[in-house]
Amino acid sequence: MSMPVNADMHCHSTVSDGLLAPPEVVRRAHANGVDLLALTDHDELAGLASARQTANELELNFVDGVEVSVSWGDDTTVHIVALNIDPDNPGLNAGLAQVRSGRDARALLMAAELDAVGIHGAYEGALSYAGNPALVSRAHFARHIAAQGLARDVKSVFDTWLAKGKPGYVPHSWATLEDALGWIHGAGGVAVVAHPGRYRLTGVEMRRLLGEFTEQGGEAIEVISGAHSPEQAREFARYCRELQLAASRASDFHGPGESWIDLGRLPALPDDLTPVWQLFL
Ligand code: AMP
Ligand code: MN
Ligand code: MN
Ligand code: MN
Repeated sequence: MSMPVNADMHCHSTVSDGLLAPPEVVRRAHANGVDLLALTDHDELAGLASARQTANELELNFVDGVEVSVSWGDDTTVHIVALNIDPDNPGLNAGLAQVRSGRDARALLMAAELDAVGIHGAYEGALSYAGNPALVSRAHFARHIAAQGLARDVKSVFDTWLAKGKPGYVPHSWATLEDALGWIHGAGGVAVVAHPGRYRLTGVEMRRLLGEFTEQGGEAIEVISGAHSPEQAREFARYCRELQLAASRASDFHGPGESWIDLGRLPALPDDLTPVWQLFL
């Protein structure tokens, strides 16, 4: 009898908004019993080489990944996880560089809005967590504001200031869905809709998003996700069956104490679905 693969196809390091350096993420995954891991930093590939080297040392199977920020429809941000991409692909690298290039200006606009509601110095604060202006994220703002004692935790900072509709939220144009899928497929990868249960979409809008994704050649949906309730996992399993998409298992781990679920500590995929890793292993 063979054990099922403990696959985790989505997590973050300090190269984007995670708390652990890429080799530490891999070591923690290994300690948790993960035997197939993808590192998927936001819009950035710089952590993959050192993560892969550590994975090789530990004999852990490693998949090169990235989580691409996409704007879809009427100001909805959707994340598309790319798996098994060639990190040296020029088109993918150029596309991601273009996506990252908007982050610094957005952060300055966010800081101006926060300043107007009495939170001063947020840009400098967020940057001290991010290290790199091209990677500064709302998560870095949230850590800074929480550390100032202005909120109980990172999640409450989002609820009060950073979520869509709150005073520090600034609409932003990320990649188009079509461009993101083109870069991913051009780099030999497969595309996965990240944490679909997190988007505030009506049933009709979700159907349209997943329909466009499928029509444009997208391959999979995160069914088991650190961001999903059991009911959401059942809902997205149904979409996989209906649209004949593969399914992913994905913690979206950002760091100890800051994530819903630790690396690899996830329920199994429903066994009638095709695991996304079967498409490239
Ligand atoms: P950004 O790409 O700058 O818009 O930042 C998005 C990141 O913020 C996500 O990848 C999460 O790491 C984090 N995030 C978004 N919403 C929340 C939330 N409600 N609670 C905690 N973290 C969140
Ligand atoms: Mn994140
Ligand atoms: Mn995401
Ligand atoms: Mn993520």
